[in-house]
Amino acid sequence: MSKQRQSRFAIISIALTLGAFTLFVFATFVDPLSAYSTELMVAGLALLIASWGIYFFGGRRAQKPEESTENVITVIGCGGCDFREERAFTLGDYIFKELGQCKKCPGNSYIRAIYAVPLKK
Ligand SMILES: [Zn+2]
Repeated sequence: MSKQRQSRFAIISIALTLGAFTLFVFATFVDPLSAYSTELMVAGLALLIASWGIYFFGGRRAQKPEESTENVITVIGCGGCDFREERAFTLGDYIFKELGQCKKCPGNSYIRAIYAVPLKK
């Protein structure tokens, strides 16, 4: 999905670049337009900059979802009862890490498991 988005940004970028070159060519070689050559050059440059911007930012934004293709879940359990809770993994979580008193009983709760779930595309 993100690859499609990326290629769409690439196509827009190429189209803008082609438009910029067309403006440059018109400004240089078409005599009736030579009076506007400066404006056409500026417009062409603006198109070029826009195309780079779209390619750069579009490509970066399209890559972002690929970094997190899975959801990491931390399972919390208790030594004294059958308490079980799942939450999103946070930095510093490790298996058997003690988390203090259980919410249901006086026993100690701890991290029982950490696992990753692939995100649906
Ligand atoms: Zn408990």
